[in-house]
Amino acid sequence: MRRPIIAGNWKMYNTPSKTRALIDELKPQIAGSRAEVVVCPPFVCLPAAKEALEGTDIKLGAQDVYWDNEGAYTGEVSPEMLKEVGVEYVIIGHSERRQYFNETDETVNKKTLFAIKNCLIPIVCVGETLTQREQGITMELVGKQITIGLTGLNGVDPEKLVIAYEPVWAIGTGKTASSRDADEVIRFIRQVIGKMFTCEFADKVRILYGGSVKADNAAELMNMPDIDGGLVGGASLKAKEFSRIVNF
Ligand code: PEP
Repeated sequence: MRRPIIAGNWKMYNTPSKTRALIDELKPQIAGSRAEVVVCPPFVCLPAAKEALEGTDIKLGAQDVYWDNEGAYTGEVSPEMLKEVGVEYVIIGHSERRQYFNETDETVNKKTLFAIKNCLIPIVCVGETLTQREQGITMELVGKQITIGLTGLNGVDPEKLVIAYEPVWAIGTGKTASSRDADEVIRFIRQVIGKMFTCEFADKVRILYGGSVKADNAAELMNMPDIDGGLVGGASLKAKEFSRIVNF
């Protein structure tokens, strides 16, 4: 049985003090949720978030990571640094990083391998653009992102790997994939993972949907057989809305 995860991607929003206030507002509203909850604030807000999360089951995630633990890599942040401030999860290959910061399937793979080696749980993001969907190449594209992004993960604990299927055209646009379409792509991702590794492995990996998840559409999406939770952007920045999603 795969325990659902609801992860909030807080992108480049909120200062450390605002992050603390958001967590303080959120905590009582999601206590005892059946879903595992992860919040991913910006790097500089992680220590404040960790303090505010003290005594809760809510996990801390980062939005990116580098594939080495130290070196002359100006601006980068390593797994070791993240772990020391209490981070357990890390988003890798978000479409905004692919689109604006030249993230490729190959860099996603390096980051994923190194994150796992350093005991962080990656949330590896894949998904097609609107043009690619219209061209009918969604499965081909997503299959390639998965195949390259997860190369070399043999022997890894499937419970320490999370995938997020996020159609790019649905992120921050208010457009959501239909629950059937999202479930179909996610089922396909599970098949690709099954072929790369084993069916038992694929059965255990949690695959989330992301793209304009809101309180009003969360239950329908999350109740689909292959969807194991959500990666939530905009709606996770409002405590009331996010808690309704968590308590779907
Ligand atoms: C995201 O940032 O991963 C995301 C899915 O954003 P939104 O929920 O705002 O579409």
